[in-house]
Amino acid sequence: MSDKATSFRSRIASRLVSAFVIVLFLAPLYGAAMWVKDLFIGPADTRKVQSFSAIEQATGTPRLFQEPIVTVTFDDGWESIYTQALPLLHEFNIPTTQYIIAGTFEHPAYMSVAQVRSMQQAGHEVASHTVTHTDLTQADSKTLNRELSDSKAILSKEFGPIKDFASPLGAKNERTLAAIGTLYRSQRNTEGDPNNTTDRGVNLAGAFTKADIKGYTVRATTTMEDLRRMLDFTKASNGWLVLTYHQVDMSGETYAVAPAVLRQQLELIAGYGLRIAPLGQVLDAHEAGEKGNR
Ligand SMILES: [Zn+2]
Repeated sequence: MSDKATSFRSRIASRLVSAFVIVLFLAPLYGAAMWVKDLFIGPADTRKVQSFSAIEQATGTPRLFQEPIVTVTFDDGWESIYTQALPLLHEFNIPTTQYIIAGTFEHPAYMSVAQVRSMQQAGHEVASHTVTHTDLTQADSKTLNRELSDSKAILSKEFGPIKDFASPLGAKNERTLAAIGTLYRSQRNTEGDPNNTTDRGVNLAGAFTKADIKGYTVRATTTMEDLRRMLDFTKASNGWLVLTYHQVDMSGETYAVAPAVLRQQLELIAGYGLRIAPLGQVLDAHEAGEKGNR
């Protein structure tokens, strides 16, 4: 064997050894980096992130009171919305509005910033539901302003412009609505009622204000017949039905809906074939139309 071949072989060998040493050295560093990333950002859930793209962003332009529209909202940002509701929302292609409490991201029962962000990236709207979920009608003016402006600031920093708001516990009065109006373009209430024979809990052209949008709170006792009544009326009147959910679990609590029940309800809603859009998207289109008509 020539000297040349031997030195070539030993050079290859020494390169292999150094490559091995580098890998040996870098692997724990990589592991440590991922650990730090998980600590601060949370582990990536590629399965869920993939399914997010299933929501079609192009729902077209919602024409308020010229066609029936359904909006599905969730209050409080419960973790079960992410784990239980989200796969169903994607299955039925329903983009929602999420009213998030700005002070609960670290609490295990609620979604983290990363979870809310991935919902937003999939086409769900992020809106405000205060910082601490306090009854605003009982708050002094300093607390009221802090709950409204701090939640807007915190959420805007993480998710971009925040325009829409819902009062915790549905509690509101002239004073709180006026304060909300200075910082947000809309507030959603909890006054929708399928047994109201005038409007069946649906927003109608003649009796509509962005300052107090009618919302129906879906609860454990809500029946398919309740939903049908509202959806039929929405369809017949070119109205805007705004539904509000909370937890999606088996707790049986007043405002909790079981995953299997949510599935039935979303299937019913989607089956009507009405336009389904997040609240903010409906108002954006409505405002653009109002400007165009001027
Ligand atoms: Zn709430």
